[in-house]
Amino acid sequence: MVFLKGKERRLIVVSNRLPFYKHIDENGNDVWKKGAGGLITAMEPILRKANGVWLGWDGVVTSDVAEQKVDLINVSEFCMQDENEGSYSIACIELTSEEVDKYYNAFSNGTLWALFHYFFEKSFIDYSAWRSYCKVNERFAKAICEISQEDDIIWIQDFHLFMVPYYLRKLRPKQEIHFFLHIPFPHIDIFSILPWQRQILESLLCCDTCGMHHKQYLRNFNDTIIHYIREMKSENKMIRKEDIKTFFYVNPISIDFDKIDRTSRRPEVIKRKEEILQQSGCPDLILGVDRIDYSKGIRERLLGLEMMLEIYPEMKEQFFYYQLVVPSREDVTSYAVLKKEIDEVVGRINGRFSTGLWAPIHYNYGFVSFEELVALYLAAGVALVTPLRDGMNLVCKEYIAAHSDNEGVLVLSKFAGAIAEIKNCVPVNPYSIEDIANAIYNALHMPKPIMRSKMCKMRSNIRTHNIDTWLQNCLSNFQRAKDQNT
Ligand code: UDP
Repeated sequence: MVFLKGKERRLIVVSNRLPFYKHIDENGNDVWKKGAGGLITAMEPILRKANGVWLGWDGVVTSDVAEQKVDLINVSEFCMQDENEGSYSIACIELTSEEVDKYYNAFSNGTLWALFHYFFEKSFIDYSAWRSYCKVNERFAKAICEISQEDDIIWIQDFHLFMVPYYLRKLRPKQEIHFFLHIPFPHIDIFSILPWQRQILESLLCCDTCGMHHKQYLRNFNDTIIHYIREMKSENKMIRKEDIKTFFYVNPISIDFDKIDRTSRRPEVIKRKEEILQQSGCPDLILGVDRIDYSKGIRERLLGLEMMLEIYPEMKEQFFYYQLVVPSREDVTSYAVLKKEIDEVVGRINGRFSTGLWAPIHYNYGFVSFEELVALYLAAGVALVTPLRDGMNLVCKEYIAAHSDNEGVLVLSKFAGAIAEIKNCVPVNPYSIEDIANAIYNALHMPKPIMRSKMCKMRSNIRTHNIDTWLQNCLSNFQRAKDQNT
């Protein structure tokens, strides 16, 4: 439950994927595994504290969705958890293999993700994929009605579900509907490529609120709406459609700072950090943590590292670069191609610069536990977070939270949404290999007092703007919209 103006309301979060995915083991039993990604990191603590419900796809591919009934399952039934952290329920939607191909792989990840991250040459227009997207979005809207009451807070997350507000508003004219976009809203010239721009805009205007991470995304949205829907007046941030007003707001998402900070002070995590440093055998550890995605700029970053070694050969054996790449969207062809490219670049750079027992890059393709991740963050004197485009990026905030020792330098892309809040990083143009090379060198040579002072400022900022304040800001915007809509 969450409190809105003193009243307890049930919180229902709706996203494409659930934080857990299901598969059936050889004995026919359901086995639940935890997924990874920024949305899970951010929403899970909120839902636990609110004892809410999370509706989404459970990863199961089915042959028939006609008779699907949506049940609630408490995650405590299959997931070990700390009692103090609370619990929440999940409600599962299943997809057919055609829907996985069309709604998920083709339209959501192929068309929308690419376009909204400015990779328009990777985006493609496929009418049957759009139809599948609408069909699945409509199913989500029906499932919301099945598991909720009109008094619940329905909070739809992200670009996979752009059309859900439209279908839900038809089914529930009086329902309070909220939406949050976790990727950039692109410039009008990019958005205009999409043949279904009007439908998406109209759907967003069926919401009571719509939040975004960065004021530039909202500016882009405003420019678009003014251009395409002339009959709707844009009054400050309120946009009016018939009798519904949609309130658009900017609120950058954050992390559970205290949890990461606490974990980084645990003796076993500190011990693990020391082991990592000892095993690396180098004075400095540089870290990259990314879900595999062309938008994360992993390849360009590796080329920047290579150039740094070319320009400054004395840096050999002085550092160790640990690149953790988390598997994602393995069924999408361009992701498989990217994995091959990264494998090749890592092999080439290691082949070129390795000496005796030292190789510059340690590459890990897989998942690590939360404690291991915090130990890695803590061990890293430098973190490279250099996406070519990122709606927000939580890895950089986690790196800051894990540095309870007040040390560490963050090299951060100018094109990550997080740059708006993190002023004391080393900013970098992720498209410029030379810029990356110099940023790495400068980060490794930053004088300690400057490094500590920057880290302290970054920590104080993220500590204050954490996941709790993000939620409170969203809820205040829900309330503002409600006040102005009644
Ligand atoms: N992460 C994880 N398991 C891992 C490595 C990373 O759960 O083995 C998490 C990491 O802690 C972070 C998220 O994945 O919270 C990545 O979020 P980010 O916003 O940086 O990027 P996204 O994947 O959402 O594009």
